[in-house]
Amino acid sequence: MDLTNIQEVKALLARHGFRFSKALGQNFLIADWVPRDIADAAGLDKSCGVVEIGPGVGCLTRELAQRAGKVVAVELDKSLLPVLAETLADFDNVEIVPGDVMKLDLAALVADRLNGFTPHVCANLPYNITTPVLTKLLESGLFRSVTVMIQKEVAQRICAAPGSADYGAFTLLCRYYADCELLFDVPAGCFLPAPKVTSAVVRLAVRDTPPVDVPPEALFKTVRAAFGQRRKTLLNALSSAYSNRFSKDELRQVILDCGLPESVRGEALGLEQFAELARKLDVQP
Ligand code: SAM
Repeated sequence: MDLTNIQEVKALLARHGFRFSKALGQNFLIADWVPRDIADAAGLDKSCGVVEIGPGVGCLTRELAQRAGKVVAVELDKSLLPVLAETLADFDNVEIVPGDVMKLDLAALVADRLNGFTPHVCANLPYNITTPVLTKLLESGLFRSVTVMIQKEVAQRICAAPGSADYGAFTLLCRYYADCELLFDVPAGCFLPAPKVTSAVVRLAVRDTPPVDVPPEALFKTVRAAFGQRRKTLLNALSSAYSNRFSKDELRQVILDCGLPESVRGEALGLEQFAELARKLDVQP
């Protein structure tokens, strides 16, 4: 069965009495080049074990199973389980795990089901959980790479340069954990049903060691403070967030000691500059 042929997919889903759920971000791929190119972009071989989030009817799962040693696909919608049992029957290296990826113990999943493989993630993500799921995947420290299709707007935020409108706290979180690359766009017409937005594929190559030497809690506290009040100067944003520990004059001095102008905005700072600020603000002597 061709899992990207719209007529075949519609017939398959009708036979199983399946109804699309908007809440679960169910937009299935119906263009054969897309799952193929996403799986290629993930850079897999038989030593790799892949966690896929949301296999849907299994079109990307099949492509991953052909390239990787093993695929563990987590699917929340129970009504898709009999569909997947049918479409993936010929693959002995795919395991379907029913459940919500946000509630799953990823460390246990990898230890129990991908033992002996190098763990990666590859998925066409449900768009409503893009940011929390990427945060969870990166913070877990479990995966060598994360290759995902997401809304183009979020992909642009992940890969944004300092000073641009898309640059923000999520950019810095992704960059702290990974080298991030926006690979290609996928038009809405490649999905059933078509979403309202354009999608894009990003590859996050997870770093072996963090690019800056500062505890992540301290770094992200400073980052969140700086972006919490976007149109304010860095000094005013930090004044609100750190008022219980520093006077405005002390914060002004910290900013100047970092070699930054007093009028600078958080949007202008790179990861290294945030790390220097965080060391001065949060790391106790
Ligand atoms: N991989 C398929 C494809 O590319 O055609 C389907 C992708 S569709 C955008 C997202 C999939 O994620 C759906 O199958 C949906 O049921 C599933 N899903 C939604 N929320 C989930 C969650 N919290 N945990 C696991 N799967 C989820």
